[in-house]
This record gives sequence, C-alpha cells and structure tokens, in this order.
Amino acid sequence: MAFYSEQVIEDVKAANDIVDVVSAYVTLKRKGSAYFGLCPFHKEKTGSFAVTPEKQIYHCFGCGEGGNVIKFIMKVENIGFKEAIEFLAERANITLPTVNYNDLNMSQKELIEREESRKQILEINKEAGRFFYKNIEKSQMAKDYIAKRHIDAKTVAKFGLGFALDDNGLYKHLLSKGFKEKDMLATGLVGKSESGYLYDKFKNRFMFPIFDVLNRVVAFGGRTLLDEKTMKEQKVPKYVNSPENLLYTKGRHLYGLNIARKSNEKMKRILVVEGYMDVISPHQAGVTNVVASLGTALTEQQGRLLRKYAEEVILSYDSDAAGQKAIMRGIEVMQSLGVSAKVLQMENAKDPDEYVLKFGPERFEKLIDNSISAVEYKVRNLLKEYDVSDISQKIKFLSRLAEILSKVDSNIERDIYVDKFSRDLNVGKEAIIAEIEKLTLKRDNKIKMIDPVKPIANIKKEDKATHDLENMIIYLLVQKDLKIYIKLSEVYSPDESVSDSHRSLIKKLYDLYENGDINTKDLMLICENDEESNILSESMIKESTKEDVERLSNDIIRKIEVSKLEKKRNEIVKKLEKATADEEQKALWEELQNVIETSRRD
Ligand SMILES: [Zn+2]
Repeated sequence: MAFYSEQVIEDVKAANDIVDVVSAYVTLKRKGSAYFGLCPFHKEKTGSFAVTPEKQIYHCFGCGEGGNVIKFIMKVENIGFKEAIEFLAERANITLPTVNYNDLNMSQKELIEREESRKQILEINKEAGRFFYKNIEKSQMAKDYIAKRHIDAKTVAKFGLGFALDDNGLYKHLLSKGFKEKDMLATGLVGKSESGYLYDKFKNRFMFPIFDVLNRVVAFGGRTLLDEKTMKEQKVPKYVNSPENLLYTKGRHLYGLNIARKSNEKMKRILVVEGYMDVISPHQAGVTNVVASLGTALTEQQGRLLRKYAEEVILSYDSDAAGQKAIMRGIEVMQSLGVSAKVLQMENAKDPDEYVLKFGPERFEKLIDNSISAVEYKVRNLLKEYDVSDISQKIKFLSRLAEILSKVDSNIERDIYVDKFSRDLNVGKEAIIAEIEKLTLKRDNKIKMIDPVKPIANIKKEDKATHDLENMIIYLLVQKDLKIYIKLSEVYSPDESVSDSHRSLIKKLYDLYENGDINTKDLMLICENDEESNILSESMIKESTKEDVERLSNDIIRKIEVSKLEKKRNEIVKKLEKATADEEQKALWEELQNVIETSRRD
C-alpha cells in the first residue's frame, strides 16, 4: 500500500491544469475569466458547468456539483481519492514517490487511515451483499418470504436482496477473505462480545442493501423473518439497520435512488415512500420514480438530493399519526428548499406495495397523477377534526381554513383555493375572504405595533434566509480577507449555523484564519464530503470586485446583527403573550423598547 504526502498531492495537482483535464470530457468555451460547457454530471441543454483556470476549480450551477481537479476525476471516472491521484500522476508523467508511513504527520495519517477504512467498509459491504444474496438459495424461510411478497428473481438481483442465516456464516466468510477485525467491526455487520468472541449481528433477517447514488453499498437494513410471537417473546425488533459509519449517516441517503436515477434521465416527479417494499413493488411493476426515506421523516439532506433529481416531490407515508407528522415535516422541508410537494392519497390499500400488487401499475400511476397539493392536504386533515354540519363548528373550521390560506404566498393560487373550498364546503366565497382579511389585518397590526419599519419574517422564509446568509458568509470567508474575517467572527459563531455542512465549513475556514493558513492552503482540501465541496466550490467560483465584496460584507454583518435583534424581539413578544403579572409585563415592555431602539441606532 502506497501513501502520498500532501506535497506529492500538491505536485500532482499543479501538473494537471483543471481546464486541460476537464477538456478531455467536456467541450469548454471561454466566457470572461471562466470556461463553460455542458455538465457531465447532469443532463442539460445549456452549459451551466464552469471551470476557472485561476482558482483551479469547477462548479455546476445546474446540479451544484463542484470541487478541484482531483474530485472531478473521482466523480467522472467513479474512482477513489488514491486512484485519482495515480490517474492524474500518470496523465502528467509523474512518478509517484512512495512515502514511509512513519514519516507522515498525524493529520496525514488520520486522513489516509480514514480513506483506507472507508475503502475497506465498501469492500466488506460488497462482499457481504454477495454473500447474503447467495444465502437465499439455502433458506426455505427466505424463499417463502420472496414468494409471499411476490418478488421475482430479476428484482431480487436488481436490488441485491439477500438473507442472513443464523450460523455466524458472514463472519467466517469475511475472515476467510482476509478482512481485518477492526474493519469488520466498523461496518456494524459483525459484533464483538465482552469475551472477545466475534459474531454476525444480522440473524434470520431478510437483507436490503442500502446503496448511495454511486451504486455503492453503504449499509444494510434487515427485516426479521421470525413470526410475530417469537419476535415478541425474544424481543427481536422487526427492522434493524447498520449503525452509522464513515459512509452511512441516517437521513443522508434515499433507498432506491441509485436505481431510479438510472432508469429515468430526468425525473419530472419522484415519489417518496416509507419502506423497502414500497420501493421494490412499484419498480418491479415498471413505476421506477420511487424512493424511500427509510423510517425517518424527510431530512434536509434528503430534500436536497430530491431537488437534484426531480422537479416535483410527492409524499406517501402511512395514514397513522406518525406518518401524517412525517408528511407535514416533508412538506416543510421541500418548501424551504423551494420545491413544491404533493401528497398521495390512497384508499383500499395500506401502502404502495399493497396497492401495486392489488390494482396494478396503471392505477398506481393514475393515483400519483391525482396527488393533492400541500394546502389541500392540510385542509382535508382539518375537515376530519370538525363536523361542518354544525354551525358553531363550521365557524371554527372556517377560521382555521383562513389561517392556512392566509399563508399561501401567491394571490392567484389563493384565489383558486378560495374558489374550490367555497364550492366543496358550500360556503360563500366572501365569508372565506373576509376571514383571511381579518387574519392578515391582525398580523399587520401586530407587526406595526412592535416595529413600524421591519415586518417579522415568517418562519419558513426565515429558515431559507438563514441558509442564504450562511452561504454568503462562506462566500466572504473564501475571499481570504483578514479584515472581513475579523469583523465576521465578532458577530457570528459557526455554532449558530442551521446546517451541518455550513457549520463544519465555516468552522474550518475560521480555523484557517486563526492559524494563519488561509492564504497558503488549498481551500478545497478542507472538504470532508461531496456536499461540503459542492458548497465551497459554489462560493469560490463567483466572480466579484473588491468593492462588491466590501459592500456585501457590510451588508451581511448588518444582516446578522439585525437578525439577532429580531430573534430577541420575537422571544420577548412570545413571553409577553404569556406574561400575566403586571411587573413581568412591564419589564418585558422595557426590554422590547431597548431592542427596538438598538435596531434603530444602527
Ligand atoms: Zn451539473
């Protein structure tokens, strides 16, 4: 095994101009200081893929993919970091010196070990997947399950389904293949008892490999095939997942996306379901734009993945309370990312798996066509709470309906709903409109009372705004201007960040400034994963003058200060609403007055 020092990596990068390297894959045309072409990572007709010779990075404004020359080769050739270095060295006729491992410094060693461990986890997962797949033949239990769920052999192979027997077979198999104990343990497929005995963690389970978008097995989900009674007696959970590892974090992947992506060039819409079988059944029947969020409600990272591959997201979760909550959360996540979400309404089947088996793919497609908008979904839920044939309940219902509609941003869209619900519910349009106006008026008055200048941002927009703000902070930090950093660090701490990637990037950029490395270090090297590299390259590729940057930095710092004041103001207002004692109210009013005055002073 060869290791390459940071210096060698620098040399390889220096010998491979990014424009030259990319030109072998993409036809580039010069526009100003950058080159543009058609993105090799997503389908497009206009060139939104940019490469800058000056900064030696690439970034696609269409799909968000970006990084340095090494990451480009890793992505385009679908190889690992070390292979990419070797690939580029060969391209530039550089002989790679191998370094004695002991000569490396700690952080280099750590990096290399992580890389190596990542590779081993992938190798073991691949091997385990094959092993589980072959096990199906050996188990009547597994064969019965496949028959019961109506899965055909082609689908079993396509999704790499398998079975874990109760014979410690996987551990023995991996040992015979020469894998190391520490790597086996790192995958979570093998466990170790206190007495040092190694054993298979998945037993009597039907195995679903979880792939990332690059088609690599990053984890497994296992469903027990024990009967309900034994399950309860032995306290065996129905589903078990691999624990988180260097490649797998809960809420980061979407089950089935690797296959959906391959089957559809660009998905107009994508259906998000709950479980493995809700993906597999539709795929088998030919409906291939289906993925699963795997138990948890949609996360922001999953939302971003969805946005990358589809224009519209349709949510389909169980009709129980947890499922309904997951839908509301999913709607919020997609809305904050600027993607419209719809909801699938299903009758006479409990999930997509059952529906497809019962009624076939055509009716399922039709069901998807008939998905309802987020607003309609909320109103339908509301209808379940009230008996609208009762006058007093109908009045309460109308005021809650108005609440939902008053939050619809577009007037045209709102009018359509008013029309629709007045017909559906047999209420005069005017009555609904009057309710909405009452609400908006109330809200406006409240705002005026607190601060005549700035309206209180609504929560969802606030999230999006914070997100944009953090992007701008990263943008400012990559300008390598010490003065800006000092000003920023006085008002903003990375811990305030709402997204993991932003927080981690800002933290690392701050460290570079603090250690005086900001001008010498290749910024792309601080990225620990694709997401970070995509965010950073986006900031780095933007062109701007010194004046622009200065103006922006003043703007941003002011925005941070204002948003802090607003947050404080909102907190006080919330307390005021609850406060009953006169003393307390008076104190809060004074505090509020102070906040407002501070905000005016600036
Ligand atoms: Zn792209």
